[in-house]
Amino acid sequence: MIRFADLPAEFQAIRDEVFEAITPVMESGQFALGFAVQQFEEDFAAYCRAEHAVGVNSGTSALHLALLAAGIGEGDEVITVSHTFIATIAAIRYTGATPVMVDVDADTYNLDPGRIEEAITPRTRAIIPVHLYGQPVDMDPIMEIARRRGLVVVEDACQAHGAEYKGRRCGSIGDLAAFSFYPGKNLGAFGEAGAVTSNNAEYADKIRSMRHWGQTRRYYHDLPGYNYRMDGLQGAVLSVKLRHIEAWTGQRRERAAWYDELLSDSPFRPPVVQPDVRHVYHRYVVETDEREPLQEWLTQHDIDSGIHYPTPVHLQAVHADLGYSVGDLPVTERAASRVLSLPLAPQHTREEIEAVAACLNAFASRGDA
Ligand SMILES: *Cc1c(COP(=O)(O)O)cnc(C)c1O
Repeated sequence: MIRFADLPAEFQAIRDEVFEAITPVMESGQFALGFAVQQFEEDFAAYCRAEHAVGVNSGTSALHLALLAAGIGEGDEVITVSHTFIATIAAIRYTGATPVMVDVDADTYNLDPGRIEEAITPRTRAIIPVHLYGQPVDMDPIMEIARRRGLVVVEDACQAHGAEYKGRRCGSIGDLAAFSFYPGKNLGAFGEAGAVTSNNAEYADKIRSMRHWGQTRRYYHDLPGYNYRMDGLQGAVLSVKLRHIEAWTGQRRERAAWYDELLSDSPFRPPVVQPDVRHVYHRYVVETDEREPLQEWLTQHDIDSGIHYPTPVHLQAVHADLGYSVGDLPVTERAASRVLSLPLAPQHTREEIEAVAACLNAFASRGDA
């Protein structure tokens, strides 16, 4: 069986380091925030080349607090994509603002900057570009529009730890950025966690306060408060894993290059990578008009695959009140019916990647025999 990821194997490789890091947390009793979270925040800000990082309890909370810190709320509109994980839109709705979903680029599956101007209204306050699958969004035109129109940019970097756009790290380009450390992400906690990064000290201070019940000093609550703190144990685990992420990202990129080469004669379109970016391959996604039979074929051959995401957010029942219908975002809808994510993790061997590629190529030639 070739699985998507192998978290137990990843743990075994860093077992001693993890126990060494979590023991002082347990000995100190600093289980909510505390020294290990503070250390991780310093480490992660440096990694993202951002001035501030604030640890929270999930990527969704990170998006929510980033929007609140920027003053987004009822009556505001936030432009983003529908081809994303549901959390991007959920976070907008938590603030009371209205998500305005625009279409993506057919090659990168990322927010198409050419669609932004036509979606702007007098109520537009922010843009959330999502660095989907680990490939950075084309940020220059987005930042240019945002500056000219007075909009805040919140990067959804939940799939893009260490990804780079023109030499700049995701998490340091927009006004704020949200990261997820859900276990399956490129940098995963041993449970739920997330962070906001920013170069703006005022935003960072507000988020530090809001994640901890809006306290400015103990039992004085000046801002809306949430219980969105990061666990001390997660901070300790994440600092350990951060030491390895560059090696793991290198392995992800190497395995992606193997797939590119092994599938070069296949009818499945490999990821289209833009020049001047460092794609971190949270997902390796191929495109095919035979997605369902291909997935079935892989399952029969004991190979995991995934669909990210089968129903775009604008067509989800929970958001029916926004008034979207089938055909509104044709590039998104086409992608949602054609994308298939293949197993790709730092732990996969050359033989495993070859076996997956061979299985895809056998599917493609099955009619020829
Ligand atoms: C994972 C993810 C989130 C949410 O992060 P959680 O930690 O699961 O709350 C948001 N946006 C995207 C694009 C994600 O992949």
